[in-house]
Formats: sequence, C-alpha cells, structure tokens
Amino acid sequence: MLIKRSEGKVSRTGLASAFAGLSGGAMDRRGFLRKSGIVASGLGALGALGAGTVKKADAGPMQPGVAVVKRKNICTHCSVGCTVIAEVQNGVWVGQEPAWESPINRGTHCAKGAAVRELVHGDRRLKYPMKLVNGQWTRLSWDQAINEIGDKLLDIRAKAGPDAVFLLGSAKFSNEGAYLYRKFAAFWGTNNVDHQARICHSTTVAGVANTWGYGAQTNSYNDIRNAKTILIMGGNPAEAHPVSLQHVLQGKEINRANLIVADPRFTRTAAHATEYVRFRPGTDIPVLWGILWHIFENGWEDKEFIRQRVYGMEDVRKEVAKWTPAEVERVSGVPGAQLRKVAEMFAKQKPATLVWCMGMTQKTVGTANVRAACILLLATGNVGSPGTGANIFRGHCNVQGATDLGLDVTTLPAYYGLDEGAWRHWGRVWDVSYEYLRGRFGPPNADDAARKRMMEMPGITTTRYFDAILLEPGSGDTANLVAGQPNFRAMLVFGHGGNTVTRMPEAAKGLEKLDLLVVADPHPTTFAVLANRRDNTYLLPICTQFECDGSRTASNRSVQWGQKIVEPIFESKTDYEVIYRLAEKLGFANEMFKNITVKAKVPEPESVLREINRGAWSTGYTGQSPERLKAHMANQGAFDIVTLRAKPDAPPEVRGDYYGLPWPCWGTPELRHPGTHILYNTNEHVMDGGGTFRARFGVERNGVSLLAEGSYSKGSELTDGYPEFTYAVLKRLGWDKDLTEAERATIERIGGANADRVSWATDLSGGIIRVALKHGCSPFGNAKARANAWNLPDPIPVHREPIYSPRPDLVAQYPTRDNFMAHRVRNIGKTIQERAVANNVARNFPIVLTSGRLVEYEGGGEETRSNKWLAELQQDMFIEINTQDAAERNIRDGQWVLVNGPEMPQGKFIRVKALVTDRVGRGVAFMPFHFAGWFMQEDQRRKYPAGTDPIVLGESMNTVTTYGFDPVTSMQETKCTLCQIRAA
Ligand code: SF4
Repeated sequence: MLIKRSEGKVSRTGLASAFAGLSGGAMDRRGFLRKSGIVASGLGALGALGAGTVKKADAGPMQPGVAVVKRKNICTHCSVGCTVIAEVQNGVWVGQEPAWESPINRGTHCAKGAAVRELVHGDRRLKYPMKLVNGQWTRLSWDQAINEIGDKLLDIRAKAGPDAVFLLGSAKFSNEGAYLYRKFAAFWGTNNVDHQARICHSTTVAGVANTWGYGAQTNSYNDIRNAKTILIMGGNPAEAHPVSLQHVLQGKEINRANLIVADPRFTRTAAHATEYVRFRPGTDIPVLWGILWHIFENGWEDKEFIRQRVYGMEDVRKEVAKWTPAEVERVSGVPGAQLRKVAEMFAKQKPATLVWCMGMTQKTVGTANVRAACILLLATGNVGSPGTGANIFRGHCNVQGATDLGLDVTTLPAYYGLDEGAWRHWGRVWDVSYEYLRGRFGPPNADDAARKRMMEMPGITTTRYFDAILLEPGSGDTANLVAGQPNFRAMLVFGHGGNTVTRMPEAAKGLEKLDLLVVADPHPTTFAVLANRRDNTYLLPICTQFECDGSRTASNRSVQWGQKIVEPIFESKTDYEVIYRLAEKLGFANEMFKNITVKAKVPEPESVLREINRGAWSTGYTGQSPERLKAHMANQGAFDIVTLRAKPDAPPEVRGDYYGLPWPCWGTPELRHPGTHILYNTNEHVMDGGGTFRARFGVERNGVSLLAEGSYSKGSELTDGYPEFTYAVLKRLGWDKDLTEAERATIERIGGANADRVSWATDLSGGIIRVALKHGCSPFGNAKARANAWNLPDPIPVHREPIYSPRPDLVAQYPTRDNFMAHRVRNIGKTIQERAVANNVARNFPIVLTSGRLVEYEGGGEETRSNKWLAELQQDMFIEINTQDAAERNIRDGQWVLVNGPEMPQGKFIRVKALVTDRVGRGVAFMPFHFAGWFMQEDQRRKYPAGTDPIVLGESMNTVTTYGFDPVTSMQETKCTLCQIRAA
C-alpha cells in the first residue's frame, strides 16, 4: 500500500485476515507468497508464468513439445485498452505478455494488466450457481437457477409489472453483451436498466453531448503526444490509467509540453507536473472560470474559432466576469497569479488539451463542471484538431461501449433516446412491431397510453435503486416516485460491485427488502454479503471476457475484438448464454433472437455485432464488422502510434484505417470508412475521418443561427453550416439522384407518407449517409458547438456549493438547486443542504472527504482483491489525512482510525488505517473506493460462500459518503462530502 512506500517498509497488516479471519497480524511479502501457495519467483515473473490452474488438477508447467497457441484479448481493468497476448497449451492459459505491436500499449502493462491471467485461474471465483436457503449458501444447477429466478420474475411482473425489476448491467460486458442486455430490458418492458457509467462519466456524456454532439472522448490517448499544453483536472492517470501516461509523458518530453495538474490532492500524476494547482474540492467551476477570466481579460481567446464554430460565448462572458481573481481565491483557494499563468499557457501554447476523469464528474454539479471544461476548450479554439480536445479518460474496459450500446435509463442503443421514433427505429432493426414492444411495458391491465408513457419515461438510476425500494410512493408535488413506478421488488445485477454507490447503510436496508436478488458475476461481489438476506438470493457464475469472444470500445472509441482464450472454467457461462436462457424462460427469446445466430443456447457474438451494425447509424457503429475488427487485431503493428492510421504499406484489409475503427465509422463495412480518430476535425475530409460539430439542436434559436459560419470540413461541397441530412435535404440539394434504387426503396418503405423525414440516423439502407459523405459532408450536419446549452438546468455553468459544504458561509450565495424530480425519484438535495447549514454540520464534521483509485485495484475491487498478485500489493483500506489534521487528533501514521460522516447511523464508524501525508491539503482527507467486506466494523467474510471471499477485505468509503445528485444524470457525489476522523 502507499504507506509502505513512504515508510520504506514492506509489510502491512490486513492480508492476514484472508487466512486468519480477522485483520491484525502482519504479513510480509514472503509470508504472503507462502500462505497464498505462490511458488513462482515473484511478481517480476508475472508476464511469463509457466504454472496455471485453469481447471482443477489440469494445470502444470508449460509442456515441452506441445504447441503453444497465442490468442489476443484486451485487459479488462481499464479503458486504455491494452492488448494481452495469452499463450495457451492444451486449452490451458499458461503464459501471457503485453502486445508490443499494439499502438495503445506498445509492450507495456500496469500491475493489473500483468495479473489478468489470475482472473481466469483464480480459485476464489464462483464455481457453480448458488442460492441462499435460510441464510446458508446452497449449490444448485443452472436449470434450477434459471427456472426459479424466472418463476419469481414472472410472478412479480404479474403482480406489479415489469418496472418493479431493476436490471443493472455492466461496463465489463462486451459490446455484444451490453447490447443484448439493453435489448433484454426492452423485451422485458422496462427502462430501468443502467450500468457503471452512471457513477463515473454519465455527467461527461451529458455535458459533452450537449456541447458539441457526442458523449465521448474527442481525441485519443495517443494524440496527447501532439499537445503542447496538457491540463489534467480531476484525474490521476498515473494510477487510474497507468499505460496512458506513456503517451502523456512522451508528449511532455518530445514537445517539452506544459503538464498542468489541477487537483485537491498531490497525486502521483501531479508528481510529474510542471505546474500543480491545488484547489478546494467542489470548486472546479470557479477554477475554470478563473482561468477563463484571465483569457477574456487579456484577449487571448480564439476569436475566429468562436465566431465560426461557437454559439453563446457572450453569455459565458457575463458569468465569467463575476469570477475575479479575488473571488476565485476566496472560494477555491487558488491564487490569481497562478491561474493567470495557467490561462496564458493554455491559450497561447497550443495545441492544448484538457484531460479529466471522475474528479470532475462525480459531483452534484458534474454536468456543469464538464460543460465549463468544454467551454474553456472552445474559447481557446482547442477542439477538433491534433493535440487538442477533451481527452476524457473513461473507467472500466468497456464503459464507453456499454454506454454507446444503451445501458442507460434514458436511451435505446446508440443514443436514439426513448421517444416513439426511437422505438420504431429499433423495432424495425429487431423485426418486431412497435405495438408488440409497447405491449411489454406498463403495469398489469394498463391501457396503451399508460404503456406508451412508461415506455418513453427514463428509468431509475443505479444511484437511487435503494431509494426506489424504500421510498413510499406518494402523490402530487410531494411524491417520492412518479406515478406508475412501483417500488423495486427484484434486482438482476450483472458485473457490478455493490460498494460503488454512495450511502451504503441505506443500500443495505434496501437490499434486505427485495423479494429477489440475482448476482451474475465471476465473484459474489458486495451485493451478496452487504445485507442480512437469508433467502431469495442467487449467485450465477459468469465467465470473464477472457473466456468468450466479443468486441470492446476503448476510451478513445476504438473498437477491439477480444478472442476467447480458454473455455469458461468451472460451471461459469457467458453473459450471452445467461441472457438467452433468461429470455427463453421469460418467454421472449424467439422474438428477441429471431435474427441472431444462437448455437446450443449461446448467441454468436459476430452475429450480434452484425445486428448492431444494421441499427447503430446515429453513432457510426455500422462500419465495424467482425471481419474488419479481427483484421485490425491481426495487424496491430501496421498502425502509427501517434495518428493511429494504418501505414501506406499496411495489408490491404486495414490500409488507411484508423486503429479500431473509432466511431463514427460511417456507412456499411463495404464503404470502408476508416473510422474517426479525432472528432469534429475540419482539417480532414469526412472520408478520411474529418467532421464538424453536430447539428442536433436545430438550425436557429431566437433568430440566431446555430449553424457554423464559414467553417466546414476539408473537401466539403457545402462551404458553410448546414443541417443534418434527411431525404428532404438530399432532394433539395439534388443529391437524391445519387441514391441507388434499393436505397431509395428502403427510405420510402421506412418513411411511408413521410419519407422526406427519414434521416441519416433512421435510414436503414445507409444511403443518406453514403451520399452525404460522397459530397464531403457530415451526415449529422455542420453546426456551432453550444457554450449556452439552453435545455440544461444551468445553461451556463454556475458554481454551487456541495450539499455538505465545508464553507457554510458560501451556501447562501452559491446554493444547490431547488428540490426536483429526476429519473422517477425525488431529489431533496436543497432541503438537506439547508439542514446541514442550520445544524452546523461542518463544525462536527470539519474534514472534506474525497475519493479515488489505486493502481493495484479496480472499481468495487472484488476481482482485483481476489487476485493474489494484486492483493499482496495493497493489504489495507486506509485514509490519507494531512499532517496537521493528524497532529491535532493525536493520530500517528499507520494506526487505526475511526471515520464517520453526517449521514451514518449514530455511534457507527468505519475503521481504517491512517496514512499521514501532505499529499492532501489541510482539512481534506482521501480514501480509495475499491474496498468492501467490512461494514461499520463488522467483518463480513463469513457471509461469502465458502472459498469465494476476496483475499483482502476492508471498509468501503461509500459507507461514509452522503446524499447529493447531479440534476441532469443523477450522478452521485463521491468527491466532496464531510467527515470526522479520530484515533481508534
Ligand atoms: Fe492497460 Fe488499463 Fe489494463 Fe493497466 S489496467 S494494463 S493501463 S488496460
């Protein structure tokens, strides 16, 4: 753990609990290896281990003379997308190494990537289906499990309707798995389907999409090598995305780039910075507006870029004018002179890029933070060209793809939304009628209007699922749940930890009340142990992504195909198969899979991807056929490490492509669009990955044009702004003559009497897109990006103090939003903030608590804390506390401390180790979010099924975190709450 590095010691104490049942005995590296049964030469040998235990008693050293097959897959631990080459002998994974030819990782892995083989071999995985019977875990067969679960779901449906079930999906799904899960929700009849993006980057997706079109990273890890100024704000890639740092540091060295890190905590990334800016947690907007204040004051903004490509910057100027250096320093603590220096670098030493992660997004003002970051980029003209852009580092390996494929309570796959047009589009792709889909929704005996209403209503988010179990439905203005939404009575959780959501004491209460809880995962996860459930709880062993084929989308939108390395071990099954079996039991498999190849109840991922290709026109997930993706994996060495483009001497099947065909990859696979490395890049022709800002908010507002002025992508036949393409637009331009007869027939079949309204996104022939590209135009139009996003609660971002502010004196001036209804549940943040100020909560809880990642663990941590190689590196949950705060509390480095927060039950604490450090500023504490298995000092190890308990357990920081949700996405607040710390 971090402590051992600062102290120069090797041992910490928590790992002993894996073997002794309770933490307390010291365990050094040698002892760890011995007790873990690891006899290899140590971590240095990770990349070339010769021993394995894929199947019990099958493993052994690599056998001479037996052929070794190499298979490529992608590390499942973060969104960087590093390629893993697995060596397989006799069906056993016997060795691994990082791919040297991958343009993303170039022969490197971090600790997690180097240890992925253990994910498959790990003997702490679930081995067969289990259920709780009177508090005891009991084995059952797959058939029994599916039958019992299905019967209970059908019973709940009959009594309360499909919306009484919450479907929690996973950023660990492949694209094909994510798509099937969203489709499963549609055929079951609910929009209550969500996944990890809700709690990591939902605010990024909303903020970025509302600014310039798409909710994704604009450039790539590789492209950061082109930047002259790199501002990292609210991110710690040195730990969270370690291999990405090779690109950042190369940029810094080769370009002598400025590397500015703005963060409340002096992270390991900050250690590389040329300029470190420390600010009070929760004041991102004052800091960003403080930077922009200097830019406007000195005339450093990019006036021509703004004129041509930005709407509403004048409105931003008015808000920014309030953030004088004195006010910024009063609120955020950052001196004006430092921000002036940052502003000058960012505006004048271009290209400049802004990198962010969850420090920016996990806030009650997350969407507004993201918007402010985008506006800084727009004001300085740093979008849409190499070395610029919003380089948003996503979290899990496929969180981008799972979001794209619709694991979101607000949309169908590929961001089509939930309105009737969206349902009709996917109904056509799925070959089922709109009426059939509508009939799946709504409570029993509902009429068509009620069913349509539920079908189009965004669902409940994963941040509020336990509120949806516990809250009393009301009526009128005080209703806690919207009319028609029953309390949740069942949850299906695929690939999601139970400790990643705030307010865990409330979550435990909610889980206890459910009629049915199903956890489908390689590990039991915290969901299995957090509540005191005794029955109606099922564990389904799901295999890892190394045990099945499928594609995943890295943070930069590159889609990579992972090969199955070994067959699913023990009795585990793929996501695909379990989704199919559940659909079959629930009675809609024939409809849901009518155009997907299914063999022995296992849907074929290639076939699923082809269906995605047939429907996901809006996002350009249409050109990435399985064949093209596989060709990219086979020819990784052909791609340039900076441009990601296949070199001129590359094999013909990939020549000219960008690596992984980053979306949008327009048109059909046969069109051979190369993918889009850099979004909105007018320097390239659209057939070379160029583009414009998307025209998705109309063509004018209050008499002002929203279309670009005199800006267009290279080679465009339209040399000014233009709207998105429809059949009518093609006709008006006379370009409809370029459609083939088959394309025209498809458009007219889809549109019927309203064929003119068929757009580039709903034309299943791809003809409208093809013709637009032929004339050098972006299918989605050419508009201005929006500095003023009038449809958001705060069209221009404004600072709002956190719900639990350490500065109650600022709350009246910068209050949170009024209470409101969001995602079917009432948000009472304003009431809680007012109560916190009235009760002077900040006096009793004077330390700001923030959170983040460690290099050794990932997400909720069940997989990585069950991995003996990684568990050895981080044995204890800890809290970083500033030296002065520690001294005032008589807390020594390494001792046990008790931490509590304002919403924890009276007299309850979490017990963690103290890491006394000036890494955090005075009055700020930090905890990692990967731990669980202790709950308010209760060791829950005994509650896991025998042999499946993670090696390392610890308190979850989310036991302390508190109420607070972003108004646009219901993102939770994990970066800025209050706590108290005392010696144990
Ligand atoms: Fe690469 Fe991320 Fe895996 Fe580390 S965790 S090897 S950076 S993909």
